[in-house]
Amino acid sequence: MANDEWTHFDAALRVAPGEKARLSTRDPLGEAFAPDRAAAEARLLKDAEAIDLLQDRLFAEGRRSVLIVLQGIDTSGKDGTVRGVFKACGPLGVRVTPFGRPTETELAQDYLWRAHAACPPKGMIGIWNRSHYEDVLVVKVRGLAPAEAVALRYDQINAFEKHLAENGVTILKFMLHISKDEQKRRLQDRLDDPAKLWKFNPGDLEDRKSWSQFEAAYEEALTRCSTPHAPWRVVPADKKWRRNMLIASIVRGVLEAMAPQYPKPSFDPRAITIT
Ligand code: AMP
Ligand code: MG
Repeated sequence: MANDEWTHFDAALRVAPGEKARLSTRDPLGEAFAPDRAAAEARLLKDAEAIDLLQDRLFAEGRRSVLIVLQGIDTSGKDGTVRGVFKACGPLGVRVTPFGRPTETELAQDYLWRAHAACPPKGMIGIWNRSHYEDVLVVKVRGLAPAEAVALRYDQINAFEKHLAENGVTILKFMLHISKDEQKRRLQDRLDDPAKLWKFNPGDLEDRKSWSQFEAAYEEALTRCSTPHAPWRVVPADKKWRRNMLIASIVRGVLEAMAPQYPKPSFDPRAITIT
């Protein structure tokens, strides 16, 4: 199955550099992108397989890497995206890094230190479940660093990402956009399902109370840090299958555009006889 439609999805979800990212104008359901669930699921399977083959080439080529940043409030589906989009990938070429509360060691360094350390080496796809953006999101909303320090971080983040992009890291940033009602359903689901209860953290309810402050912090980050070298995409995430399909199609499209090549051997394989 060809993947021509991805440029259309990509253009529609992108926050154009300089554009103000208003989340209220972006629909968390995104029905128009994929009205039919069965078709979207079939497409996701194909795209996930294509991503696996491209990842193999990227690894063999060993010259560039891909960094996928997943941001979104609790229950927005960051873990589910990793599972759904990269399900066909072998674990060797993909490295997932969760960004939780910084440890003492991390707090003793500047906030980008742990991000830089988690960057995918050449040949790898790195996936960040949360990221350095927490340092302008939760840190801003909760006042965990002085406001003057946080205000400087947008430019610092842009410079950091430009540095990575200029050094062979293709950056793909996805904000998983869910509605407040959908978050309520998913939190309730965690309370009701013994297999999901472990994911429930009463502290998440505190963040939910600050919904509008988080929304404002996201809008500022998306607006100020969507750059030509690392644009943000806001993905409608109320439906998991649609979210996965959209992200997979863009990841596949970007990988195809990168066109990773298997290295040329330094010998002639036809001249070799294995006895
Ligand atoms: P989870 O992703 O649900 O495992 O939770 C990780 C938690 O770590 C979330 O509540 C984040 O807000 C929090 N977190 C991540 N990065 C930071 C940071 N730089 N400062 C403070 N809290 C953070
Ligand atoms: Mg959580």
